[in-house]
Amino acid sequence: MVKTALITGITGQDGYYLSRLLLKQGYRVAGLMPPQRQASLARLGELANEIKVCAVDLTDAPGLLAVVEQLQPQEIYNLAAPSFVPDSWNDPLGTLDLVTGTATRLLAAVRQLGIDTRFYQASSSEMFGKVDCSPQDEDTPFRPMNPYAAAKVHAHWTMVHHRQRYGLFACSGILYNHESSRRPPAFVTRKVSLAAAAIKLGLSQNLEMGNLDAKRDWGYAGDHVKAMWRMLQVDQPEDYVIGTGELHSVRQLVTTAFESVGLDWTRYVVVDPKFLRPDEHFQLVANPAKAKRNLEWEPQVSFEVLIEKMVLKDLERLQSGAISASGLRQIPH
Ligand code: GDP
Repeated sequence: MVKTALITGITGQDGYYLSRLLLKQGYRVAGLMPPQRQASLARLGELANEIKVCAVDLTDAPGLLAVVEQLQPQEIYNLAAPSFVPDSWNDPLGTLDLVTGTATRLLAAVRQLGIDTRFYQASSSEMFGKVDCSPQDEDTPFRPMNPYAAAKVHAHWTMVHHRQRYGLFACSGILYNHESSRRPPAFVTRKVSLAAAAIKLGLSQNLEMGNLDAKRDWGYAGDHVKAMWRMLQVDQPEDYVIGTGELHSVRQLVTTAFESVGLDWTRYVVVDPKFLRPDEHFQLVANPAKAKRNLEWEPQVSFEVLIEKMVLKDLERLQSGAISASGLRQIPH
């Protein structure tokens, strides 16, 4: 039997890697997209033609119910979220509606229809927020520090309630930062990969950065989506922390990126206080032991290989004109 998977947030980075994985496995993949956002389907590149698009707004509960009823998916992956966390301060209610509302509406649809659908909720290490222990695991308390993280905590508990009270096969992956050449340049890894490539080609002269001592658990998005899929293939629905278990600093990031094109970063990188963030004293790093044990999941791509690949991809895009020099100037810093 051909399985159907329904994905929200399909045009994002994770939507791309997850769709690619599921299509390879023979799934029929459907993506929920607001009617006015259909143009962004082009971001899926070669995958766009293989995906069934369901035009429905994620705030439209009857519309979502109708799509779920029509598709009767074996699996739903709820990945939709605002693309950049700091933006959630400007629109906390909109963030709550998108993050928590979408999860609640989809879970309600599955329950109401009484169908046998497995549900994946994209949770985030941001939910741990102000941690007082490192590394974090599935028992670490949530202390969210921004509206995005608070909304993710609410969505997470809503999913848990549906599992406990209504017996749905629902689970969440608490994912740490996961990157790729498909990351928007507002994120630090992509900002750095693009800048290193542009400087190498003489298209840019320097790179203004924030806190070089900030550390993150950076993994490869293509590895992390495999964990999402495996969570829905095991017998018991459970929640999992997904990360590499390794911390790297922004300084190591710029070093690796510039070295991969033969440049010494200290000649180009300047610290600009406008990129410094308040409240950044917490070390978010995963203990992925449970995922290793139950899902046989382990990251395959190292930090160094990931960053090097991102820089080389940006080099290629700049050389081919896929990113123009004027496009480079419009990239948010
Ligand atoms: P997130 O904050 O973990 O969702 O991901 P980001 O990629 O935006 O940021 C990761 C870390 O890089 C944070 O600790 C930032 O303070 C740090 N950082 C240092 N300089 C920059 C910068 O110029 N831009 C961004 N986005 N982050 C920076």
